[in-house]
Amino acid sequence: MKIWLDGELVDEANAKISVFDHGLLYGDGVFEGIRFYERRVFRLEEHIKRLYDSAKAILLKMPWSEQEVIDATLETIRANGLDNGYVRLVVTRGTGTLGLNPMLCETPSMFIIASTITLYPEENYKKGMALATCATRRPAPAALMPQVKSLNYLNNVMAKVEAIQAGALEGVMLNEQGYVAECTGDNLFIVKGGVVITPPVSDGALDGITRQVIIELAAENGIECVEKSVTRYDIFTCDECFLTGSAAEVIPVASLDGRTVGSGEPGPVTLKLIEAFHALTLKSGTPLD
Ligand code: PMP
Repeated sequence: MKIWLDGELVDEANAKISVFDHGLLYGDGVFEGIRFYERRVFRLEEHIKRLYDSAKAILLKMPWSEQEVIDATLETIRANGLDNGYVRLVVTRGTGTLGLNPMLCETPSMFIIASTITLYPEENYKKGMALATCATRRPAPAALMPQVKSLNYLNNVMAKVEAIQAGALEGVMLNEQGYVAECTGDNLFIVKGGVVITPPVSDGALDGITRQVIIELAAENGIECVEKSVTRYDIFTCDECFLTGSAAEVIPVASLDGRTVGSGEPGPVTLKLIEAFHALTLKSGTPLD
């Protein structure tokens, strides 16, 4: 595998960063995960824009232009001979001292990995997945801005462990007020009375690119979609529920905390949006060549 590291394509075995890198020492950095379908990178510009916004919000000055990062992403995918897959871009604060001060870090590092990813078993895309509510909360916006896709994922990791220990595939993370924020690596949607509902970013959701695609596809298909606060009760009593994410794509939910969600089978609105999503991934995107 060829990895893009600070301007060069290197063999995986030579893709090394310093043990003094603050991305490793403190989770001080930002990242993106992007899918490509049939040699087209889905929503590439939106992902790169979010990467730059995340970097700006944490005062990390990117030494590359947005176009250079787009070109590097395409180059990495091409170098690995993949037609379909997932590309991960990681920007770290760079090498610093053992102290916290990011101003002492020399220059940011970026690495790009083009590979594949499977978040959930294939059968769950057809029959739905079980969710469990996690005790670990999504940090309050004053603690960690939810829009920033930072390398600080320890709370998500702990929440994921709780969900797995509860026998579920994915965990619902609540915010400090007890409203649903999102799942550990996906945004959450419910359908009630034909209306699609997703928590607002202000409730602690990442401003997901796939979330935005679903909001747009709902509008195009004449399905009402609103952003408003969601409780566990709303999920227990909704007609349909599904999750979205670049890695997850769109996956139906069958249960939450032992309660069957809706009929327990993927519902008609979910199926319609999944179909529209897959059609869009194949007819749009930045071509690799
Ligand atoms: N929430 C979290 C915490 C995530 O890590 C992700 C994956 N990037 C998402 C939501 C989904 O966002 P997107 O659709 O932009 O991949």
